Amino acid sequence: MLARPALPSFDYVRANNPDEVVRLLQEHGAAAKLLMGGTDLFVRMRDGVIRPQIVVDVKHLPGMRAIEYDEGAGLTVGAAVTMNQLARHPQVQTHYPLLAEAANSVASYQVRNRATLGGNLCNASPAADTAPAVLVLEGRLVLHNPQGEREVAARDFFTGPGQTAMRENEFLKAVRLPPPPEGSAGKYLKLGRNKVGDLSIVGVAVFAFPDGTKPSGYVFRIGLASVAPVPLRAWEAEEVLATHSPGEETFALAAEKAMEAATPIDDVRASAAYRKVMVRALTRRGLERVWEALE
Ligand SMILES: Cc1cc2nc3c(=O)[nH]c(=O)nc-3n(C[C@H](O)[C@H](O)[C@H](O)COP(=O)(O)OP(=O)(O)OC[C@H]3O[C@@H](n4cnc5c(N)ncnc54)[C@H](O)[C@@H]3O)c2cc1C
Repeated sequence: MLARPALPSFDYVRANNPDEVVRLLQEHGAAAKLLMGGTDLFVRMRDGVIRPQIVVDVKHLPGMRAIEYDEGAGLTVGAAVTMNQLARHPQVQTHYPLLAEAANSVASYQVRNRATLGGNLCNASPAADTAPAVLVLEGRLVLHNPQGEREVAARDFFTGPGQTAMRENEFLKAVRLPPPPEGSAGKYLKLGRNKVGDLSIVGVAVFAFPDGTKPSGYVFRIGLASVAPVPLRAWEAEEVLATHSPGEETFALAAEKAMEAATPIDDVRASAAYRKVMVRALTRRGLERVWEALE
């Protein structure tokens, strides 16, 4: 037993190219862990939850810290882009304000200087603050593997607490978001025990835009964090919003459906019962705010 928390010893490798990462993952299997900001990895190592023999630093690989925007292709965010970089990037602020808002809600300024978008998603905590935004913006995760690259939709990426669709010999290179639909608006509402610096008790992202093909004239998307084993979309609530005229009654019904989609647990941050009613409250508030912005 250590007198004070400390990291166990490990070998550190700074990877220079993607194939080297794949080779190291193949060679070392579960004994290797990938490192970006380390704000999740090192905490788990310090607490003795995991004890990798080798830590492979992937944040210096080409493109991992780049943000590229193209009107036709949308946004590509390198996996190792930090939360502060993301929140302050002019084109992210202009075209994807919801993502900037979610990134800016993570932890504290100091942690956001290290914490990366990719690390937040790969850690796959149900409480990951950027996950609801990436879900409702219909992001795709670009994975590098021995065959080259493949993309996985964010909605298929999270498979359980700390579990993802990534295979053992794959790593995340980037996150791609399609161009924002014309006239869209979004909002991320986070409830924590403190105003800043804490994991969420409930996180709700709402994103909407006009769409003449829907009976309501709009598409609304809702992403939830901290209220189920994985971050998730509230599909039934979205269906209500596609088929009923936007307004107080519809928002109340959709918020009820979002609450039904939540299957939270009791933990140190809140009870399951409290989380459920907060999903309803925050969803309703998010819908009202987004509706105001759309109008
Ligand atoms: C004090 C504190 C407060 C926090 N508050 C919040 C909060 O409010 N909201 C929130 O969402 N999170 C919070 N976190 C968690 C953490 O900061 C975020 O999840 C962060 O975004 C993780 O990014 P990272 O770059 O530090 O990841 P790392 O710790 O480097 O990696 C995270 C996981 O992903 C794996 N990994 C790393 N890179 C890759 C890759 N390229 N491909 C595949 N797997 C990879 C690692 O092996 C590890 O399992 C907090 C953490 C701390 C310490």
